[in-house]
This record gives sequence, C-alpha cells and structure tokens, in this order.
Amino acid sequence: MTIDIQLTDHPTSEEDLRRILADPGFATHATDHMVVADVVNGVWGDLSLRPYKDFVLEPRTMGIHYGQEIFEGLKAFVMDDGQIVIFRPADNAQRFVRSAERMSMTPLPVEMFVEACEELVRVDSRWVPSAPGTSLYIRPFMFASEAHIGIRSAHQYSFAVIALPASPFFSSNFSAITVGIPDRLVRAAKGGTGEAKCAGNYAASLLAKSQLAAFGCSEAMWLDSKEHRYVEELSGMNLFFVEKAGTTVRLITPPLNGSILRGVTRDSLIKLANSNGVEVQEREIGIDEIAQRSETGEITEAFACGTAAVVAPIGRIRQSNGEMIVFGDGTSGEYTTSLYNELVSVQLGRSDKFPEWRYVVEGARIQSAA
Ligand SMILES: *Cc1c(COP(=O)(O)O)cnc(C)c1O
Repeated sequence: MTIDIQLTDHPTSEEDLRRILADPGFATHATDHMVVADVVNGVWGDLSLRPYKDFVLEPRTMGIHYGQEIFEGLKAFVMDDGQIVIFRPADNAQRFVRSAERMSMTPLPVEMFVEACEELVRVDSRWVPSAPGTSLYIRPFMFASEAHIGIRSAHQYSFAVIALPASPFFSSNFSAITVGIPDRLVRAAKGGTGEAKCAGNYAASLLAKSQLAAFGCSEAMWLDSKEHRYVEELSGMNLFFVEKAGTTVRLITPPLNGSILRGVTRDSLIKLANSNGVEVQEREIGIDEIAQRSETGEITEAFACGTAAVVAPIGRIRQSNGEMIVFGDGTSGEYTTSLYNELVSVQLGRSDKFPEWRYVVEGARIQSAA
C-alpha cells in the first residue's frame, strides 16, 4: 500500500512538546500530523499523511445532515525498553468495518486502518508520553463527505486519523464512580445502532448524562429498551459485576445482544480473567438481581471498562427511583484493581500473556523516562 507523506513546516518545538507531555490532560492537544483517505463510489484513494489542519466542509456535507459518522478509539504506549506499541489495532479495524456496514457506509479495509494508525504514530512518535498511566490516544473516524441534500447513503466518505497525548482518564486516580439509571430515556434498542460505534449513539446519551449529573452521577447506566430491567452498558464503556463465594471469584457481563458495543477492553478482560481460571458469565443480568445480590454480599464489586479509562470502578448505582445500590464499601474493589493492573501490565509488555495484543510500531523508539 502506498502512503503519501507531507510533513509540517512548523513542527511543535521541543520545548512546547515537553510542556504538553508533562501534563497532557485527556486528549486536549493533537499531534503535528493526521492521516486522511477518501472513498468515492466504493473506490478507496491512497492514504495521505499530512499536517494537522481544519476540514473545509460544503454546507450540504451529508454527514452533518444525516449523521453517517463512525469512529474508533485506541491507544499507543511506550514500553519499558522504549519500543512503541499499539494495543490490538486490528480489532478496532474490524469493528470499524462492522460499524460502517451497519451505517450503510463504505467499509475501510482492515490493513488500511492499521497502516494509517501505525504511520501516524511512527511519524509523531515523539508525542507518545511515557509517564505511568499516560498514552497516545488514537482517534480514527469517517463521515459522509458528499455534498447532497436528499436521503440516501452517501457516495463519498472521508476517513481520518488524529492522535492526542493523554493523561489517565480519571483525574482522581482510580476512585470509584457513581452511575445513574436514566428515567425513561433509552440509548439503543435491538435492531438499532447500539452495536455500531457511531456518533448518534453518543448524541442520544447526552441528555441522560446531564440530567443525572444533578444527582451526583458521572455516567448513565443503560438498561434494555424493552423491559427496562437488564443492564446493558454505560454510554461509552462496557460493564462487569464481580461475584464472590468464599475465595472463588466469578465475573458477569451482559452478552453482546445487538444493542451493546463489542468492546475491545471487555474482550481483553474476559480473556485475562479466563487465563487466571476465573469464569466469566456472559448473560443477561437484571438491575433487580444486582440490587438484591449486592445487598446479600454475593455481588461485591462492579466496574466499567473501555479504552479511554481502561477500568473504572463503580461504587454506587443510583436507580431511577432514587434508591442506591452500593458495592462493598463504595470504593474500588480488590478484584477490580488486580484485573486493571494485569491489563496494564499486558499493554506495557510487563506480562508474558497475550503478546499478540501488542502491535509493535517498527522504527519508532523513544528514550524511556524510566
Ligand atoms: C467505545 C465504546 C465502548 C468501549 O470499547 P473499547 O473497545 O473497550 O474501547 C463501550 N461502549 C460504547 C458504547 C462505546 O462507544
């Protein structure tokens, strides 16, 4: 595959970059470059790496009117030896294909997705931070870029990848969050777009988030759209519940039933838990079961997971009637913490497990802070 490379004449100075990387925030500064490619009538043009800059959009750009937009989120890390790795990029690429298919957009070939991410990380490798908990957040996305008023699938799409250095997602390190169950609102229904990583799902979730903020909840926890009973996921993270019987730990996570996103972090945690002999049940779990069995001490911990936060312990769930479900003493649970630490070890190459999850960016190596 060919990639056209045009480097910026104004790279960020070493001094500015040092200042940004010392405290990057979560994805507030983009790197110097981006990668773009367009597809017209099903035929992909070449990838092009070029200076980071604005899009110029014709007012009829279909993505703005009709919402054909999908995205991904993945991370690059510096390992202890200075090598740079991207975590499971082919899995994100495959999900990007499925999201495109659901949204009736032209899918991007998996190899093009991976190459775009890899090339951007290689060229902007000095932007990958190395302090504990930091990463380079990679954001691939695609939208309908044809100028046309009239409802049909677009004939032209623009794909782009940008990258942004990131501090740990939650500023307060690893403290448990409170989530709330929205009153009446629904994020995704069976047969809808919940399984696609599309912009519209996020738009549909924002009202609940702001309503719940008034009750001290940082995220909405969505139940199934039909019975309002079975737990699905947060607006951008999958869910797990930890069951303990004596010394035996078991995990429960809602099944991929069509209205839940197929999280790469979710899949990684299932495989890691299994590798430790921990059973993971993928099954429907009602909020009534969670309320009852957390009360009796059978369900002891809950957590959300996704690329941005990795793992977010859940201390409390506010039900729509205002009642609170509390896990353990409402702080991060022991098993949650150990699973988080284990996944981070795999991401950074400090564990022997699942080496295939680390995609090495050849030719990019930076001086490690360690
Ligand atoms: C992105 C996302 C997740 C998490 O997926 P990861 O691949 O683990 O980052 C979960 N739920 C929704 C709705 C998402 O958009």
